[in-house]
Amino acid sequence: MSSSYQIGKIIGIPIKIHISFLIILPLFAWFFSVQTEPLGFSGVEPELMKYVLSLLTAILLFASVLAHELAHSFFTIRYGGSIREIRLYLIGGVAAMEKEVNEPLKEAKMTFAGPLSSIIIGILLLSVNYAFNKAPVSEGNPLFLMIFILGYINIILGLFNLLPAYPMDGGRILRAFLATRMNFVKATEKSATIGKTFAVLMAILGFLGNPWLILIAAFVFIGASKEEKQVKRKYDKY
Ligand SMILES: [Zn+2]
Repeated sequence: MSSSYQIGKIIGIPIKIHISFLIILPLFAWFFSVQTEPLGFSGVEPELMKYVLSLLTAILLFASVLAHELAHSFFTIRYGGSIREIRLYLIGGVAAMEKEVNEPLKEAKMTFAGPLSSIIIGILLLSVNYAFNKAPVSEGNPLFLMIFILGYINIILGLFNLLPAYPMDGGRILRAFLATRMNFVKATEKSATIGKTFAVLMAILGFLGNPWLILIAAFVFIGASKEEKQVKRKYDKY
């Protein structure tokens, strides 16, 4: 994709970011700077410290998403697949596969590795905060506030990704288990239908108050339809 730029390589995998990051990163930093504690830095003084921490949190948040994708990639490679590149987008990332792993249980494991890594990172960060931060999160050293925010978001990220809403990770795990009982195309069809149902529910919840959910719902719905078609094209020989 011409609108993506390679920022480096990790374990031989090119890491690419989309051009929209130039807008998204400052937007996230701004969001953290106006959000009240303990999930933002709005009360932090001096001003410069507030903006530096907000930007750093935004950058480290995307590094966390990268760690999640690398966990998928590591197990994909271990199970005999290969990864062409990792792309980081607006909400999350994609580890684009060159060669897929076609064994359902292995696919379930390499999919689970992503959310698991997010949850582990989250627990580690929260543990560091609770072990070394003597003051309440919102009153102590703002560096601990950053650790708390990143820990909290990583856990949410991990748990949210486990929702069985194909093509999110939880939905892929569901498909892998369905694929042990029926053929891959049928399993994908069923998972996509469940994914789209989740998308509709998320959109309804979104309209009731959380605009982020509407955006995620759109991604899930479009993603489910697209991937279902791809799988059918690839495997249906009729
Ligand atoms: Zn994932």
